[in-house]
Amino acid sequence: MSIATTNPATGEVLKTYDAMSPDQVDAAIAGADRGFAELRGTSIAQRGRWLTAAADLLDAERADIARTMTTEMGKTYASAQAEAAKCATACRFYAERAERFLADEPADAAAVKATRAFVRYQPIGPVLAVMPWNFPLWQVVRFAAPALMAGNTGLLKHASNVPQTALWLEELFRRAGFPEGAFTTLLVGSDAVERILGDPRVRAATLTGSEAAGRSIASVAGRNLKKTVLELGGSDPFVVMPSADLDRAAEVATTARCQNNGQSCIAAKRFIVHTDVFDAFAERFVAHMSALTVGDPMDAGTDVGPLASERGRDEVAAQVRDAVDRGARLLCGGEVPDRAGWWYPPTVVTDLTPQMRMWGEEVFGPAAGLYRVASYDEAVEVANGTSFGLGANAWTRDPAEQERFATDLDAGNVFVNGMTTSYPELPFGGVRNSGYGRELSALGMREFCNVKTVWVG
Ligand code: NAP
Repeated sequence: MSIATTNPATGEVLKTYDAMSPDQVDAAIAGADRGFAELRGTSIAQRGRWLTAAADLLDAERADIARTMTTEMGKTYASAQAEAAKCATACRFYAERAERFLADEPADAAAVKATRAFVRYQPIGPVLAVMPWNFPLWQVVRFAAPALMAGNTGLLKHASNVPQTALWLEELFRRAGFPEGAFTTLLVGSDAVERILGDPRVRAATLTGSEAAGRSIASVAGRNLKKTVLELGGSDPFVVMPSADLDRAAEVATTARCQNNGQSCIAAKRFIVHTDVFDAFAERFVAHMSALTVGDPMDAGTDVGPLASERGRDEVAAQVRDAVDRGARLLCGGEVPDRAGWWYPPTVVTDLTPQMRMWGEEVFGPAAGLYRVASYDEAVEVANGTSFGLGANAWTRDPAEQERFATDLDAGNVFVNGMTTSYPELPFGGVRNSGYGRELSALGMREFCNVKTVWVG
């Protein structure tokens, strides 16, 4: 894949970049290694001041970086601005909390026959971050903010279609005051990752991306005995039970499916509705989906912009066509419009069967699968019936049912009567083929720390 900015709303290639040579990559890794030696010696308070300065820049330049994101990957300008604001919040969160998250943790010294025993969290070195285009600022910042606060340095290999956002991020941390080599963007394709991760100076990797990329990076990391955190795909269930507030559920379902033009790992993708309320929910949901405005992502009135790439749009169209060809019913959408750029309308498909691609695959665009179930047990069975386990939503006002869903849904995040969202305060990650490890909260910061046991006799 060439490294280029291509406007998905028009298909126009706006700017192309040469990939860095192996020598340039080596120099960048050496810089990250030197940067680590310097950064680890700075105080948490100092790193906090730099990260706060990064938050201030994110706020001050929100409009500009949002325009770049919209141009590179098609998200609405309003959601791009919200993403930049969320990044500033996460930077401040870690700037303020790092001292506490990284403090020595005393252990029971008498029990281990010591005069003193404790756990100390220390940085491990340069970490490679392989990141996707769908939240081109947020995915990077949710790694970078805790990593830099812990004293690690970052090497970013961003998705090839968001090079301008990637370069802006490098500049962001440099302008905020972090030392040379603290955060470096590598303009390289995915073919360069194996060599970078094999370099002994690179200590670990974090990937947010597809299952295929996860398998590939985990195997390279395995050969090199390096730690990885993998945030992969999902096909989140959104279960609606008879006691649910149907008006609210249908409204949130529409946002949950179509946020970010349908391209979110934690988008609800499969809507699993109890038969007692199926028709009432379906009517509301289809009405909301059909009413969304698809158009220029820079317009304030637009709900859904283009998909980020032609390949991605064609994949969603093929998944829906496969379902319809095998007997599924379209309740709205489903037609690729005849216009330049990579558009796909909000779509609802029902009567799905396990033979159809939409049943088990992730659909990365604004197309929803609607499933009818007859009981709680069947709802859980369908909800857990894919290989993924990222997020899950359940809508019920019955407290006993809420408790059961919290336990029974096989996912890293369960949201009851609300949409799956990430917050700096809460750990985020998946189980099964959605990956492993956690980002955000104190856990996210400690993933790339040496959790050192210290015993003093
Ligand atoms: P992708 O193709 O896996 O790309 C993600 C990143 O991985 C890009 O930087 C890409 O580089 C790189 N990459 C791809 N194949 C690789 C390989 N074999 N070895 C090393 N690097 C490789 O994913 P995408 O289509 O851009 O993003 C969508 C996917 O990400 C969806 O599955 C979505 O659910 C998932 N996602 C997960 C989360 C989460 O938190 N769990 C969040 C957002 C997205 P190039 O661009 O150069 O190919």
